Amino acid sequence: MASYRKRRGNNRGPEKVTHKSSLPFGRTDVSTEDLEQIIDIEKGAIQAEKGGVENAAEKVEDFVDCIPDLLRWLEGHGRKYPWRATNDPWKVYLAEILLQRTRGDAVEKIYSDFIQRFPNPEALYEASDEEIREAVHSLGFVNHREKTLKEVGKIFTNEFDGEVPDCVKELKKPWRVGDYSARATQMFARGRSMALVDANFARVIGRVFGYEMPRQPHKSSDVYALLEALTPDDPDIARSFNLAILDLGSLVCTPDDPDCESCPISAACHYYQSNKREGN
Ligand code: SF4
Repeated sequence: MASYRKRRGNNRGPEKVTHKSSLPFGRTDVSTEDLEQIIDIEKGAIQAEKGGVENAAEKVEDFVDCIPDLLRWLEGHGRKYPWRATNDPWKVYLAEILLQRTRGDAVEKIYSDFIQRFPNPEALYEASDEEIREAVHSLGFVNHREKTLKEVGKIFTNEFDGEVPDCVKELKKPWRVGDYSARATQMFARGRSMALVDANFARVIGRVFGYEMPRQPHKSSDVYALLEALTPDDPDIARSFNLAILDLGSLVCTPDDPDCESCPISAACHYYQSNKREGN
């Protein structure tokens, strides 16, 4: 890959990553020119090539060209969950715990009651096992959730003075809280521009680039490096980008039946273009 049409500008700096996002969908009115300054296309292409992507630089550039359409799509189709309308780290973190292996619609049904019942880590710490179990009963995986939530209350109360720690490593201290939940809290509550990797991200990015996803993409440093490169530096736009991929993966680019004809990034999608060529 000798040359790139676009290169990231030199505007990455600490002030960019601590800026608070404007809720709920961040900033969606971006141009390709804006994105050229805040996406590391060169690194993205290098990482994509590592994952077996042919013509990686071209594919990454095509994808960047489609991001403005993707963000416009988010404005019209993005899901308006209550945890997306707050930048309170506690409320966002709790939502991420409840969303583990669970659909957003199910979490939405209990979310406001849950937040009222446990408005801070101390309230969770002081709650009885039965109280916690009853609060999450409708979501299933009750034992798993109870154990995680009890640890959240205990650890945050005892080790962090009842605050939500401002560090991915510390957010991951409670049992079964992984990178995704911790990073999503930093991204959506604290406006840190961060790459997220979950099943939706892996599926969408895997299909768009023809990237050979490992069996556990959320544990792959190469996949993180690719997403780090593609995630815009500007926190408002990073918020939009991450929400857009999440919602696209849930609503359009579904595991078994992707609706490519209505997808805002089909022009840049390897999966779609290959299927079209083969007449599928
Ligand atoms: S075009 Fe189809 S496969 Fe590609 S990202 Fe969109 S929905 Fe997914």
